[in-house]
Amino acid sequence: MSLRLTNTLSGDKEEFEPLEAGRVGLYSCGPTVYGPAHLGNFRAFVFADLLQRYLRWSGYDVLWVMNITDVDDRIIRDLAGTGGTLEDLTEPHIERFLADLDRLRVQRPDVMPRATQHVAQMAELIARLLERGHAYRTDDGSIFFRISSWPAYGRLARLEPSSARRGERVAADDYGKDDVRDFALWKGPRDGEPSWHTGIGTGRPGWHIECSAMSMHYLGSSFDIHTGGVDLIFPHHENEIAQSEGATGQPFVRTWLHNAHLQMGGQKMARREGNISRPDDVYALGYRPAALRYALLATHYRAPLEYGEDSLEHATAAVERLSTALAALESYRQEGPADDHLSQLLQSARQGFVAGLDDDVNVSAALAAVFEFVREVNRRLDARSLSTADAGRAADLLRDFDHVLAVLDLPEQLPDGAETLLEQRAAARTARDWAASDQLRDELKELGVLVEDTRDGQRWKLRGEVSDG
Ligand SMILES: [Zn+2]
Repeated sequence: MSLRLTNTLSGDKEEFEPLEAGRVGLYSCGPTVYGPAHLGNFRAFVFADLLQRYLRWSGYDVLWVMNITDVDDRIIRDLAGTGGTLEDLTEPHIERFLADLDRLRVQRPDVMPRATQHVAQMAELIARLLERGHAYRTDDGSIFFRISSWPAYGRLARLEPSSARRGERVAADDYGKDDVRDFALWKGPRDGEPSWHTGIGTGRPGWHIECSAMSMHYLGSSFDIHTGGVDLIFPHHENEIAQSEGATGQPFVRTWLHNAHLQMGGQKMARREGNISRPDDVYALGYRPAALRYALLATHYRAPLEYGEDSLEHATAAVERLSTALAALESYRQEGPADDHLSQLLQSARQGFVAGLDDDVNVSAALAAVFEFVREVNRRLDARSLSTADAGRAADLLRDFDHVLAVLDLPEQLPDGAETLLEQRAAARTARDWAASDQLRDELKELGVLVEDTRDGQRWKLRGEVSDG
């Protein structure tokens, strides 16, 4: 078995074969930084992170690129009248976005190019489209893509060839064009709006061109995987294909992956629906970042995810179960022979995990294998049939799975003074001084450290308050 992915372009689950053996070029549409991103946005980023972690874990050398849209109509709208620069407006949102990614344990993409720093590449791409007859200028200095010059338009979104359906951002381009379907590559200068002086004139780039220019700049004219939410298929990704292939004559992306919506109360979470929730809102309810990550990734990416307190409660319990199992394995001590069946158990857990993720990133199947493993291991811990070394091997496997899942919530640093109290308490228990032991337990509790007594001695955890994951 090897990795298979459902390619939106073909509609089929295909065997994944990178252009260059062992290497993967991956592009994910990133945030538009005019406000904080919401959970629906983060579902897409957590999925992309799960995918790239799994590809690396499977041995691929991955180059992951995620753009930051730091100029667009909404940003310019918000900028009007502030007297500040684009950067003044976007920088705090970018910082907030990166902090949100970190807490959700989304690894930093290898490259996070900003649109405003790649206008030259965009202008160059537009110049090629003009040369090849796929673009035209209008009187106000704008440049549009001519959809009638691109017969393959609509293939990704499966549009009728004559469809005059308009995307939201197309409708927002109010600059006078030949065909209602044509979309802006470049917008002529307007008073009070930021603009750039380039070989194709003065103005600013349209939104779609930035992803074509930046993805190809870092990953080449053809690359392996492009991710994004389903709402980006049309017109954004359809336009990316037309612009890129129109300019290079090469096939653009081999595999398109689209995640379904995140829903709240049965409705898609979106700013315009007015039902958005952000990571900070979730943490303010007392849920931990690891649980939010779990809730965002535990449903298969192509299925809609219903978000709510139920899913967060379930995720919290799941994270706790995994983390408790790991803590128990790591503190377990038992002299004795190795468990004859452990190797078999480790192997089948690993196979189940890989088989699940190889099947179009079926994370539910992979998690089922992990929980089955935890059940079996807990049974053996209770029966004390594992040796110390066995428990170490089982713990290693859980930690290995977590390089992909990144959901384990392990105890953090003990607060100052707690270490000494724990030692005193262990000594008190050895001396069977229960009164002192209880007293010390209460003192630890005041520091936020909960102590539990087990056969292997006392075990501690931090009180489940919000703290950085
Ligand atoms: Zn994009």
